[in-house]
Amino acid sequence: MRFTILGSGTTIPDAGRGPAGFLLERDGARVLIDGGGGTIQRLARAGVDARDLDGGVYSHRHVDHCGELVPILFTMRVGADKPRLRDYPIVAGAGFAEFLAQLKAVYPGWLEGRQWSPKVTELPLDGPGEARLPGGVTLRTLPANHSAGALHLRFETPEGRSLVFSGDTGPSENLVTLTRGADVLVTECAVEPNDPYGGHLCAEDIAQIVRVARPGRVLLTHFYPGVDVERALRLVAAEGVEVRRAEDGDVVTL
Ligand SMILES: [Zn+2]
Ligand SMILES: [Zn+2]
Repeated sequence: MRFTILGSGTTIPDAGRGPAGFLLERDGARVLIDGGGGTIQRLARAGVDARDLDGGVYSHRHVDHCGELVPILFTMRVGADKPRLRDYPIVAGAGFAEFLAQLKAVYPGWLEGRQWSPKVTELPLDGPGEARLPGGVTLRTLPANHSAGALHLRFETPEGRSLVFSGDTGPSENLVTLTRGADVLVTECAVEPNDPYGGHLCAEDIAQIVRVARPGRVLLTHFYPGVDVERALRLVAAEGVEVRRAEDGDVVTL
């Protein structure tokens, strides 16, 4: 399983970092995980034509995580060289089908083709969820402590390798539960302690998760401006785990 960081940034403009987006590849299948604005170009840089995606998974509906959904569905319609002949499966939290229906109402007929359409599978926001992804990866989810239908995502291979993505979340026992035994934890570190808005993690929260759940290694991502990245890395490393900051283009192989 290969997990490519397409976007390690946030909704704040940054020349070197796109908003949240990741590419999961296994057994020839390519699944987009989230995807804010600019994801089509960053997929192309990673050698992937967005029209060839086998599926998408969304952690939640905030624009920095799904802003490229409309452009991706639109690009799947075009190009006589590459007519799409199969549906585009999307897995996300409850409410996503209605969200997509509203987008389709804004762009009538433009977000599907003659021989395909996006097909949403919704997972629960009040308990565990599970879905089988293209490439034989199993997705397990638990609700996150955030808005917009947010889930924590755990990807498991049949060989027993696993990667957890926090999505956006405030402190969350569910994230601890999902991270237990994971090879890799990719987690947001959006804020400093005592953030007045809530709904995000600071380095102390992540250190606590690592202390209890003991993931094999940690990638920190989604830093908003003002977060002391070096301090965050030090705090998490002090728990005795390999940790680094995610960069656009990074590839995690497991
Ligand atoms: Zn969010
Ligand atoms: Zn976000």
